[in-house]
Amino acid sequence: MDAADENLARIFTNAVGAAPDGVWSAPGRVNLIGEHTDYSDGYVLPFAIAARARVAAGVRRDRRLRIRSLQRPHDDVDLEVDALADATPRGWAAYPAGAVWALRDIGVDVPGMDVVIDSSVPIGAGLSSSAAVICATALATAALARVEVDPLQLALLCRRAENVVAGVPCGVMDHAVAMLARAGQALFLDVRSLRLEHLWLPLQERGLALAVVDTNVRHSLADGSYADRRRTVEQIARTLGVTALRDIRIGELDEAESRLPDPLQRRRLRHVVTENQRVLDTVADVRAGNLAEVGPLLMQSHESLRDDFEVSVPALDDAVAAAVGAGALGARMTGAGFGGCVIALVPVDRLEAVERAVQDAAEAGGHPPPTVTVEAPADGAH
Ligand code: ADP
Ligand code: MG
Repeated sequence: MDAADENLARIFTNAVGAAPDGVWSAPGRVNLIGEHTDYSDGYVLPFAIAARARVAAGVRRDRRLRIRSLQRPHDDVDLEVDALADATPRGWAAYPAGAVWALRDIGVDVPGMDVVIDSSVPIGAGLSSSAAVICATALATAALARVEVDPLQLALLCRRAENVVAGVPCGVMDHAVAMLARAGQALFLDVRSLRLEHLWLPLQERGLALAVVDTNVRHSLADGSYADRRRTVEQIARTLGVTALRDIRIGELDEAESRLPDPLQRRRLRHVVTENQRVLDTVADVRAGNLAEVGPLLMQSHESLRDDFEVSVPALDDAVAAAVGAGALGARMTGAGFGGCVIALVPVDRLEAVERAVQDAAEAGGHPPPTVTVEAPADGAH
C-alpha cells in the first residue's frame, strides 16, 4: 500500500467502523494513437498515467452493496447485491456496481461489500476515469469473492459493465490498459484478436516528454455523439459487407470509398482506416527507437479526427496548434473528443515554452485555463 492507499483505508475505517480487507487501484490512461478504432476491431496504443482510482473494500455479512465515492459526496448508494441488473443502478454508481454485476453475471458468488472510492483521475477529461473506477472495483470484488480472474478476461468483464450497466457503448481499450499496463511501456493492442504487446517507450532517453494538456472542456459520453459515431461506422461496415472497418486495409480505401455515396460516411471510413495504419506505423517507429518520428503521425491523427471523424472542438485544436508552434514534435487530441485532453510529444527543453503557449492560446481563444502535466507510462491495476 502506498500513502494514498493507506489514507483511503483510514477514511474507510472511519466511515464503515472496521478496517477494509484491502485497497485496490487502477490507473487512468492516455492513448498515444489509435483513436475511435477500438470499436472497429482495430489497433490502439495507450499507456497508463500516474492518476489512479483507488477502492477500499470490505466484506459485509448481509447482501448489501454500499458504495461511497469521495468525488460524489452526500450521494452514497446502498443496494442489494442480488438486485444489480442491466441499467441498474443509474448514475455514477452504475460504474462500480457494474463491476460487481459483471462478476456475478459469470457466476461468481459475490458477498455483500462496503466500498469507498477515491480517484485522482479527472472525471470526463478523456483520461478514462470510468474504466479506472470499474477496474479497481472489479479487482476488489474478485478478491473479496476469493476468485482469480485472468486480467484480460477481467478487462472484458469491465467493458461489459460499462456497456450494460452504465449504458456506454465503449470499446475495450480503456479497461485493457487499466488492467494490463506496465510502467515504462505502452500497450499495443489488436482489439480483434486481443493480441497484446508491451512496447518500451524510452521518452527520457530520447530527451522527450509526453505533455498532457487537459483543456478543462468537459464531455459526457452519455450525450450521444460517441454512440452516433459508433452507429455510423457499424452502418458503413454493413454497407461494405465487412465484419468491422478493421477489415478495410489502407490499399483498399479508395475502392471502399467509391462504394459509399454519402460523403460523411466516406470521411468516417477514411479516419478509421488511416488511423489503424498510423498505429502500425507508430508501432514500427517505437520498435525501431525512432520516437521523434511519431510526431508527424500524431499530427495526422489529429487532423483526421478533426476533419474526417469530426470529434474535435476549438479548445483542442488551439492547444494542438499552440503546442506545435512552441516546439512540440507533434500533438493530437486523445480520448473520445468533444473536449478533454491533448497529448504533445515535446523535447524536454521546450516543455516550459509549450506549457506557456497552450495557456496563452486558451486565453486568446476564450477557453478555460488548461491543466498541463507530464506523464510517463505507469503501472496497471493492482
Ligand atoms: P472519462 O473520460 O473520465 O472516462 P466518462 O464519461 O467515460 O469520462 O466517465 C465519467 C463517469 O464515470 C462519471 O460521470 C461518473 O459517473 C463515473 N466516475 C468516474 N470517476 C468517478 C469517481 N471517482 N467517483 C464516482 N464516479 C466516477
Ligand atoms: Mg470513460
